[in-house]
Amino acid sequence: MERRKSTVKTTGSGATDIRSADGRKSIHAAPRQPCAFSVRKSGFSPFSTPDYMMYTDDLFIERNVPGKPHKGKVLAAIQPHSDDIPLYAGGLVAKLIDEGYTGYLIRVSNDEVAGETLGHGVVQNEIDNNEIAKALDLKKAFSFYYRNHRMDDIAEIELRQRIIFLFRVLKVDTIVTMDPYDQYEMNPDHLVTSRAVEYATWMAGGRADYPEHIKAGIMPHSVNEKYYHSNSTRGLHWCNRIVDISSYIDKKVESNIANQGKGPAGSHGSQFRKRLANENKKLPVLGDDDRTADFQYVKEFLMKDWKILGEEFGLEYAEQFFYIGSETNYTQNFLDYAEKHSIPLH
Ligand SMILES: [Zn+2]
Repeated sequence: MERRKSTVKTTGSGATDIRSADGRKSIHAAPRQPCAFSVRKSGFSPFSTPDYMMYTDDLFIERNVPGKPHKGKVLAAIQPHSDDIPLYAGGLVAKLIDEGYTGYLIRVSNDEVAGETLGHGVVQNEIDNNEIAKALDLKKAFSFYYRNHRMDDIAEIELRQRIIFLFRVLKVDTIVTMDPYDQYEMNPDHLVTSRAVEYATWMAGGRADYPEHIKAGIMPHSVNEKYYHSNSTRGLHWCNRIVDISSYIDKKVESNIANQGKGPAGSHGSQFRKRLANENKKLPVLGDDDRTADFQYVKEFLMKDWKILGEEFGLEYAEQFFYIGSETNYTQNFLDYAEKHSIPLH
């Protein structure tokens, strides 16, 4: 589609230069400015970068940090279904774990609709979720087992309480999950989950919410950092953070291969290789064995859109997020101001 072919480049002065793929300038006439930017796509997967992005003026590129700067901190990657984190944030999660976080994977649905039968879907996706946690070096995988595609019929307040409980017990500092304000979302599980997570990040730090936790020794613990990823190709997405995942693309690929029960990855590569062989053909990029075919299929085709996104920013591969950092310490700011400007009473 034509609207997907334009690119945006931010110049050194901060001005924005909008061009289509063939180099023509935007048709927008001054003073009208575009408010969203179309994202180029490879056309190999419906599960990729969003259609449109709204880049903020403080867009930040998060690069590799040497050492273990996040040692002692706890990360929770929360997904409604077993393929959401691997597809949209697998590179970020692998990066943060490598930089010192202890991480947990929390899956909210039971993924029953992604199987040969509903029962098979429940079992296979539970196995997959555990394998994804291993592929991303996460310490433990949790599942809440809400029924797949029916989460708009659950008590959201119960889900929120379950998440608050885990945030407090695990002492979660940072979360990665789907953006609760993702537009044109068709899967009810996605927004129900991310809404509950958004509320829980704040409420987990309060002493008045679920006071029985505190009496039982489970203390309040606020989540300070949030990375929200978009969902699929629909709608537009706020983006204030581009994360360089070039060093972690192979980990992201492995986490997607772990999804045997659902998603576009799993063993689709080896199946495609067999299909071609039946037609007496082969794609050299898929190699000569099933394992290579599965890996290369994901890396060369399904990850292509994150490669295109990376290229926009001079990176090999990138993921995009709306990032919310820790709150300003307003009290300390007042105290600092008073320290600097106070004069003697007498
Ligand atoms: Zn999903």
